[in-house]
Amino acid sequence: MAQPSDSSSSSARPLAGQHAIVTGGSRGIGAAIADELARLGADLTLIGRSADTLEQAAGDIHHRHQVAVTPVVADVTDEAAIVAAFESIRERVQQPEILINNAGGATSAPFARLEREQWDTAITLNLTSAYLCTQQIVPAMLDAGYGRIVNIASTAGLTGYRYVAAYCAAKHGLVGLTRALALELARKGITVNAVCPGFTETDMLDQSVQNIVEKTGRSADQARAELAAGNPQGRLIQPQEVAATVGWLCLPTAAAINGQAVSVDGGEVL
Ligand code: NAP
Repeated sequence: MAQPSDSSSSSARPLAGQHAIVTGGSRGIGAAIADELARLGADLTLIGRSADTLEQAAGDIHHRHQVAVTPVVADVTDEAAIVAAFESIRERVQQPEILINNAGGATSAPFARLEREQWDTAITLNLTSAYLCTQQIVPAMLDAGYGRIVNIASTAGLTGYRYVAAYCAAKHGLVGLTRALALELARKGITVNAVCPGFTETDMLDQSVQNIVEKTGRSADQARAELAAGNPQGRLIQPQEVAATVGWLCLPTAAAINGQAVSVDGGEVL
């Protein structure tokens, strides 16, 4: 089986010489993943919609870890934008070894009032985006005989939650895509795994708290406490905890971990 060209796989920077693409790498879980992969030595491309936020994240990560970090502005729900983004990556990087499909987001509504547009947005943002980005990179990984693909799903990819049917359906789909592709690529040196965070302290969680406040009249502290109570450890997950798991899955030594949906949720989904 092919291995990435770097010789320092046992060093403190085992991903040195590798290149990782992180969608939604400018904030929250994606930014923490980008930081962790950079700490492990990988050069990065960060994809997101806001140029300013991407530039800021890229500058911070470069400053901390001295790796090359390139921001690429693209909306992962826009197929033409994704094709153009990956074309621009191919012009710079001969062989990206790592793809993290992280960009995503949730909308909530009682099912009876879930509009077709919300449904389509949830599926496109959380599932079709991963299909599009992964298709852009698999041919190069097949040529190299090496790759690491990690899809950031959710505990909502493994179990149901009230009022987020479209998000749950999309994340279950992402776990299904992970499992199918893992089998298809199993003999090609490429692993495909999903990471399933529980409620994690990011802007997205703040939005969920805000929603609960608006719809129920509870205080923000009460809403946060309720979300934390779903975790048997009675707390919210930190983005760095998700990132550490992703970093591990991206190591050359994680070659036997394939097709898994790894929960980072304090034991919420067993
Ligand atoms: P977040 O704080 O809202 O950050 C989302 C990131 O994705 C940002 O960098 C954002 O940048 C980017 N993004 C959003 N829409 C995009 C689009 N259409 N095209 C390109 N980039 C886009 O979210 P997060 O909490 O870190 O969530 C990251 C992933 O973890 C998502 O897939 C989410 O479903 C999953 N997750 C989150 C939680 C949680 O509790 N936070 C739990 C389980 C799973 P721009 O806005 O500039 O585009």
